[in-house]
Amino acid sequence: GELEAERSFKYSDIAVRLAPPHLLQPKPNVSDLRFGKYFTDHMFKVYYHEALGGWQTPEITPLENLVFHPAAKVLHYAIEAFEGMKAYRGIDGKIRLFRPELNMARMNASARRMGLPGFSSIEFIKCCTRLIGIDQEWVPHSEASSLYIRPTIVGIDPTLGVSSSESALLYVILCPVGSYFAGEKRTEGVSLLADPRYTRAWPGGCGDRKVGSNYAPTIRVQKEAAEKGLQQVLWLYGEDHQVTEVGTMNIFMFHINEDGEKQLVTPPLDGLILPGITRSSILELARDINEFKITERTITMEEVCRLVAENRLLELFGAGTACVVSPISYIEYMGQGLHIPTCDQPEPLYKKFLKTLLDIQYGYVPGHPWTWEI
Ligand code: PMP
Repeated sequence: GELEAERSFKYSDIAVRLAPPHLLQPKPNVSDLRFGKYFTDHMFKVYYHEALGGWQTPEITPLENLVFHPAAKVLHYAIEAFEGMKAYRGIDGKIRLFRPELNMARMNASARRMGLPGFSSIEFIKCCTRLIGIDQEWVPHSEASSLYIRPTIVGIDPTLGVSSSESALLYVILCPVGSYFAGEKRTEGVSLLADPRYTRAWPGGCGDRKVGSNYAPTIRVQKEAAEKGLQQVLWLYGEDHQVTEVGTMNIFMFHINEDGEKQLVTPPLDGLILPGITRSSILELARDINEFKITERTITMEEVCRLVAENRLLELFGAGTACVVSPISYIEYMGQGLHIPTCDQPEPLYKKFLKTLLDIQYGYVPGHPWTWEI
């Protein structure tokens, strides 16, 4: 906490080196945006060297390649953590961040889990804000798009020991992005592969941290889903096939409980779940709505199947920065196809959350406490 803040780099020390005009890149058309394909003209960097007293001078530079020793620890042992957040161009033309202090707190927790140094959230947000200000013309003038912000921290010690890295690089790159599921309409639900042979997190592991090593092993499973014509993976855990997350989203279930009441459920933060900022925002909004029960508890596939069979499952949806809220319409599980009626509801709950969050992010609710104007 405070010690970390004291030892952190400071925004006031920032050095800015702008790209010369002839190196500025043309901005892509909004319709061409593919997730993470185009990058803005500048980046943020700050090195950490224990031998030199810790954090060095923070800087903004043109977007450029990084040079590491081939033994750099990140390249061997995935000593790395990252974040994903967005800047939105509102209807008033102002640019806003959404709850960035939560991303920074999560990044500090992820970095600590990798033995990497911490930093002051507020100083880092100020640095990010300056970077976005410099590249502000890259924030799309469209409510179907936004500027994705990717803070990354890597351990770069040029030594092969499996031990903590005495040097690190914290950097930020930015990309204009459209909607995550290219070409698909928001009103169509996603189809999922739920295969209990695979799991993404386990007790005592790092599933609750945003570290690169959680994502590499998911690529092949995601490909297997795609080969079956399914869009995302529903991640299960344990003998009882607990439902944990969907793709890179947290999951919510809206159903009619044993007492005939409507209830919203999401798995608890028990170490298997990434503590999503969208997840926590939806829980807060749901408490404000105050029209149904809200529970953080384990969901099993057996329960999902039973609720579908008894017509008591109303909605399943994913929640995350990339697509905010994403309805689920189909699950393939143990050779069985489950139709999920999320998109059949006349006034689905997921749409209410989607609209409220988009309204806050795109400035329809001026001065909302969850937004930071740039
Ligand atoms: N789960 C996983 C595994 C993720 O990678 C993400 C994206 N950060 C989320 C959930 C959603 O988190 P957030 O709402 O903070 O984007």
